[in-house]
Amino acid sequence: MSDEAKTYGFDTLQLHAGAQPDPATGARQTPIYQNTAYVFRDADHAAALFNLQELGFIYSRLGNPTVAVLQERVATLEGGVGAVACASGHAAQVMALFPLMGPGDNFVASSRLYGGSINQFGHAFKHFGWEVRFVDTEDPDAVKAAIDGKTKAVFCESIANPGGYISDLKALAGIAHDAGVPLLVDNTSATPYLCRPLEHGADIVIHSTTKYLCGNATSMGGMVVDKGTFDWGASGRFPNMTEPEASYHGLKFFETFGNLAFTFYSIAITLRDIGMCQAPMNAFQTLLGIETLSLRMDKHCENALKVAQHLEQHSAVEYVSYAGLESSPYYSRVAEYCPKGASSIFTFGVKGGYDACVKLVDSVELFSHLANLGDARSLIIHSASTTHRQLTPEQQSAAGAGPEVVRLSIGLETAEDLIADLDQALAKAVG
Ligand SMILES: *Cc1c(COP(=O)(O)O)cnc(C)c1O
Repeated sequence: MSDEAKTYGFDTLQLHAGAQPDPATGARQTPIYQNTAYVFRDADHAAALFNLQELGFIYSRLGNPTVAVLQERVATLEGGVGAVACASGHAAQVMALFPLMGPGDNFVASSRLYGGSINQFGHAFKHFGWEVRFVDTEDPDAVKAAIDGKTKAVFCESIANPGGYISDLKALAGIAHDAGVPLLVDNTSATPYLCRPLEHGADIVIHSTTKYLCGNATSMGGMVVDKGTFDWGASGRFPNMTEPEASYHGLKFFETFGNLAFTFYSIAITLRDIGMCQAPMNAFQTLLGIETLSLRMDKHCENALKVAQHLEQHSAVEYVSYAGLESSPYYSRVAEYCPKGASSIFTFGVKGGYDACVKLVDSVELFSHLANLGDARSLIIHSASTTHRQLTPEQQSAAGAGPEVVRLSIGLETAEDLIADLDQALAKAVG
């Protein structure tokens, strides 16, 4: 679909990219290939598949026809050469770093991240011998200073969850590329409809498809998209990509596959050996969600702006941290990186602090109090007592999740109903 991808609009691609009527049955909607393995035509065919000389399906841990449609669709929407799906957003973060890292290596990450990512990077990754260096990405000198000879990537979120922060992707890409390392961007909160990081210098995009891409809170999933332009051979930093691969009889991925080296490594090594494949049923649900992505994101953004503007002038509210508001220090970055809108996740400070926040989440009726975002339904959570509970107070504040902070994920309901629900709950919480 690559030539067509240049001419078709986003609304067309979100419906068609990667899909065609099922060659076996003519089924127009992508079928759910709920199966594990695929019969070889003959022994030569089997050998060619296992040698990566011919593309095809072997075993669903490595690839599945339903999942493959989702991969091509997201690669097209992001403008990448290849994408690999996996079981969750957290699996995608492992998958994005696995081709780059080895024991003793490090990567530099923004301190403004999804709370679960801070835990995963700071604790679980130590088991692999991977070190994360958290920095304030608003301070270019701090980012540069954190990079050393063992650094393999710079990592940030486009629109950072939860604090309404928008990363300066061009600046970060410049710093990363000067040091010979790729910029990895978690684009979960923005989706490719609102922001296309690969057009702003990013090399790899990561998604939790669990959120807006699926959009109906039915299916966990992750995705890693490669732009295909990073030169893995230039710096000598990426032996996994350039040196002979012992588990593939000495295959050199970058030399053999060029701009698809990262994607092939992710399938042939990461999925094969780590095994975090996506279920076909989840890929199907996510494909259904993506069919209406642009329509939903427009409404998410419109509703979020209405709710944020209302809260900003509410007497029980200290501040609203939403990049879509003119009062936000990141408002100018909306025009640069996500001109169609600042997504629908944002935080606000409640007068009365921790106790008032807990009362607030217990008083809402239409909003659901739960740990998710990007659902069609509106969601509320008090980060300090839930998602960011395991972090130190300093980490909580750095991540925009202090004790007075409530996070909203604004859904697709009638905006006035959402505003009325927050008004009645704030009245009970703050009095
Ligand atoms: C949810 C989320 C993740 C983790 O994704 P899962 O699908 O829950 O594993 C990572 N990054 C961001 C920005 C998220 O919102």
